[in-house]
Parts: sequence; C-alpha cells; structure tokens
Amino acid sequence: MKAVVYNGPRNTSVKEVPDAKIERPTDVLVRITSTNICGSDLHMYEGRTDFEQGRIFGHENLGEVVEIGNAVDRIKVGDMVCLPFNIACGFCANCEKGLTAYCLTTNPNPKMAGAAYGFADMGPYNGGQAEYLRVPYADFNCLLLPEDAREKQTDYVMLADIFPTGWHVTELACVQPGDSVVIYGSGPVGLMAAHSAMLKSASKVMIVDRHPDRLRLAESIGAIAIDDSKASPVEQIMALTDGKGADKGCECVGYQAHDPQGHEHNNMTLNNLVQSVKFTGTIGAVGVYVPQDPGGPDQLSKQGEAILDWGLFWFKGLTIGSGQCNVKAYNRQLLTLIQVGKAKPSFIVSHQLPLDEASKAYQHFDARDNGWTKVVLHPAQ
Ligand SMILES: [Zn+2]
Ligand SMILES: [Zn+2]
Repeated sequence: MKAVVYNGPRNTSVKEVPDAKIERPTDVLVRITSTNICGSDLHMYEGRTDFEQGRIFGHENLGEVVEIGNAVDRIKVGDMVCLPFNIACGFCANCEKGLTAYCLTTNPNPKMAGAAYGFADMGPYNGGQAEYLRVPYADFNCLLLPEDAREKQTDYVMLADIFPTGWHVTELACVQPGDSVVIYGSGPVGLMAAHSAMLKSASKVMIVDRHPDRLRLAESIGAIAIDDSKASPVEQIMALTDGKGADKGCECVGYQAHDPQGHEHNNMTLNNLVQSVKFTGTIGAVGVYVPQDPGGPDQLSKQGEAILDWGLFWFKGLTIGSGQCNVKAYNRQLLTLIQVGKAKPSFIVSHQLPLDEASKAYQHFDARDNGWTKVVLHPAQ
C-alpha cells in the first residue's frame, strides 16, 4: 500500500510500504477515505520529537471497514467509521473512567499512558495517511457514522481529533453560557475551540494570531480577531473586556509558540493567558507540550520546562486544566451536532488532495503559507 513516510526533518515521501493487516482478533482493517494533516504532525515533521524515521504519519482518520478480526462483534465490513486519535482498550482503570487519552494498556512503554496512530512516544502504531489502517480494539474505538458519512466526511473526519480537542479545551476552561473567552492560536484547534465556545453560547470569543487567513476564518464564524503582530494582545483583550480580562482562556498553540519575529518562547502564550483572563478565571491548555525538547532554543526548554508566571497566576486565583483530549468523551455528541447541521467544522478546510500530494501539502502547511489552513488527504474515494 502507499503511505506518507517520515524520512527525517522536513522530509516526507509517499512510498510503497507493507500492507496494514489484522494482527489481533479484536482489530479491524479500514480503507482510509479521509485523513488530515494536523498541527501536531508538524512537531514531528520538523524533527522536534523522537518520531522514528520510516514511520507513517496520520492520526485523524476516517474510512470504510474492509476486514474484521474474529473477535469483533459490533463493527461490520462496509461500515463507515471515524477513529479517535487515541487508541484505547476500554477495560483499564483510566478507560473505565472515560480517560481514553491515558489508556494504561495500549502504550507498550510502561512509563507512558495513552497511545495514538502515527505519533511520537505514543506506541508503535502506524498512522492513517495511507491506503489502509489497522484499528486495535475496534468495537471500543470505532465511531460508527450515519448514512450521510460519505457526503459529510470532511466534517466527520474532524471528530478524530480537532473538533473534540477544541471542545475539550473549552471544557477544561469551564466555558459557560455568557462567558467571554480568549483563545491563543487560530490554527485548526483554536478555530474549533472558537466554534465550540460559540456552540456553548459564549458572549464574546476573542482569538489571537497573526496570520490573516486564519484570523479571517475566525471572523467568519463571529469571533473577534486579535492580531498580535500589530499590538500587545493582552492590551487588546483588556480594551475589549473593560480592563478586567476574559472570563475564560484557551491555549491552542503549544511549545513551539513564537513571537511575531519568529523567536520561540515556550511560555509565551501561557503567560499571556495569565495576564489575559480575569481574577479567578480558568484556563484550558491543549496545545502540545513535551517532556523533552532536544531542539528547543535554551536549556530549560530542552528539558521540557517552561517558566510560568506563577506569582501572578496565584495572586489572581487562577485555575488551569491541561492535556490531550479524551476523544470518546465527546465525539458521539459532536457527531449529532454535525448531522443536524448545528456544527460545521469543515469550514476550516482549505485543501482536499490525493495522497500522492502529501509531501507538497506538508511543506505548505508547515510554512503556514497563506490559505493553507487545513489539509484533508483522500487516499481512496
Ligand atoms: Zn491532530
Ligand atoms: Zn485502556
């Protein structure tokens, strides 16, 4: 089969690799019809993780079941399914509590909890930027899609990661109806956080970025765009909130946060959030941070450490929630919102391309080239 293979920093190719196959009786095999390139793929693409050369990218996957293992009961050949990026067992102590991002059995590294397709440090699983994908514990993991699965697949594929992740950050931030919300990062996850905050009836959604195409998308759904290359984002937020700060804040950038001049500061968005939310506000942080960042710009960041403005954080009585999204906690409900037309996460999609054009797409998306806001690859139609 063909797949998007990582050859080293900023180097991918679409190559022939051994076919994905059923390895355990609880697996199914899925022919991938839609698979996204994600901002978190870029950390690996840039060589800023220990993602091994030769591995296949792709953790946002949707397709048709073409083969089932002997122990699979619920899922049938021909079903259209969307796969949470988390690979979870369903029977460990964390899965039982719904914490599927921290499954205790699917990552073979005993020091780690949680597994994912095509992801650094999250188990040996291949990604779905390929013609076929092996799905472990398929009865538990597959989200079965309704009749309109093929027509709406650019919406439904967002249920694999970024729509639930955008929803999750608003849950971590405890967004309530009437709240004002500030979101740092207008990439795909930040835009999904804005979409989610709107669905939760936030009174005002402000979103900080500097890329005009992304800010335009934010405005297209009714958010207030804040360009941090023009003036201090904190001052702009204060001016929009009577000097008090936003009720809730969302971090959707992660450890490669950088200033408008391009210099990385892994604490920049976190500390801007500490300043941007009101006293007693709540912050959610879903942008990726890593325990080790050997390519980081200084000694602290190389060790995965970030200097948090703890003094002001404490003084303001702030609360923060962090980490990856437990996709299964939300994907079924968000599917219903898409099905009835109340949510339309595909508004961020800029490019739909065949698998063969993946390397070009990585280059453009990584460079944040104008207009490359979200790429969906279609290995099979
Ligand atoms: Zn993703
Ligand atoms: Zn588990």
